[in-house]
Order: sequence, then structure tokens, then C-alpha cells
Amino acid sequence: MISYIPNDYWKAIVDCDAAYNDQFLYAVKTTGIFCRPSCKSRVPNKENVKIFKNARMALEENFRPCKRCKPEGLNLPIEEWIEHIADWLDHHFCESLTLNKIADISHGSPYHLQRTFKRVKGMTPTEYIQRLRIDRACSLLESSGQSVADIGLAVGFSSTPYFMTLFKKKMGTTPMGYRQDTIKKATKEREQDANR
Ligand SMILES: [Zn+2]
Repeated sequence: MISYIPNDYWKAIVDCDAAYNDQFLYAVKTTGIFCRPSCKSRVPNKENVKIFKNARMALEENFRPCKRCKPEGLNLPIEEWIEHIADWLDHHFCESLTLNKIADISHGSPYHLQRTFKRVKGMTPTEYIQRLRIDRACSLLESSGQSVADIGLAVGFSSTPYFMTLFKKKMGTTPMGYRQDTIKKATKEREQDANR
């Protein structure tokens, strides 16, 4: 079955246009999830998209509501709480953080926070923070001349050896190795561009 998607609807999906939120929802056949047009999730392949006029119709076809944009209009308080914390972590991951400190700030017990966070986000708060720090470290290694030790500190690791160990574990290479690979790749791309 080919479902027709009006051009302005498709544009709204690509542009995450909230102005269309009350006009339609879209489901992605490959993921089984449906979203509001404004959802910031990855733009799907057009041929996998199905348009719905409301959430009930999407649910009847066994699509599940996206956890991110909550197209059902159901904001589960527990998920909201965790999203709030994740949001806070997105902005504060460079600071020195412990589970106790995060629990304090989010007004929950460390145990409850740990368990609930893992259930909603699929990883513990610590894993979530580590991922943010490694991501930031990668972009600093690519774009700055800062030393590995400085970068480790800048992204929130309290010790350089720990930063290097964790980086290697997650990325399969050392921070220096990562930087050299990036430089090599960039040089190669420049050469290819020059030869074009
Ligand atoms: Zn969504």
C-alpha cells in the first residue's frame, strides 16, 4: 500500500514544524512509533511514513507513541521527571557529579533515581553522563588543540587516567589515537577534494 503524503506535511516533518502539531501525526513503519510533526527525532525515510489524523487511529494500527514528543498527549509524570533530569544533565555534565548529588537536585532517592532512569532511558545516570562527556571529548579532540589531560578535565572527568581508560573502552582507541585518526581523515579528504 502506498500512502500519499502531502508535500506540506512532509516538509513539516523534515522541518519539525510545531505549527502542524494539531493537524496530523506521523508513524514510521520500520520503528512502529508515531510522532508529532515537531518531534526532533531522526527524519525517517519518506516511504516508511504513514500519516494519521489522530493518536487513536495510530494506536489502533498498533503503532506506539514516541517517548520523546508524546503524541498521545499523555505525559507520564515519572517519564517527565526523568526527562527533566536528563535535560539538566545535558547542561551540567562537565561538573563534578555523583548519583547522590543528582538525586538531591532532583528530589528523589539515589536508588529510585538509578532504577527509574535506567528504565526510562535504557541506561544509568552514570552511563548517560559518561556518554555526554565522551561525545564532548571527541569534538574537542577534533576541533581544539587542547591536551588530552585538559580535555578530560574540561568535560568533567576528575582524573586523566580514568578518562583515558574509559575513552579507550567506549571508542576502541585512545584519545590521542582518535585525534590522529581525525587529522588523517581530514587530510585524506582534503587530498581527495584537491584531486577532484
Ligand atoms: Zn517523536
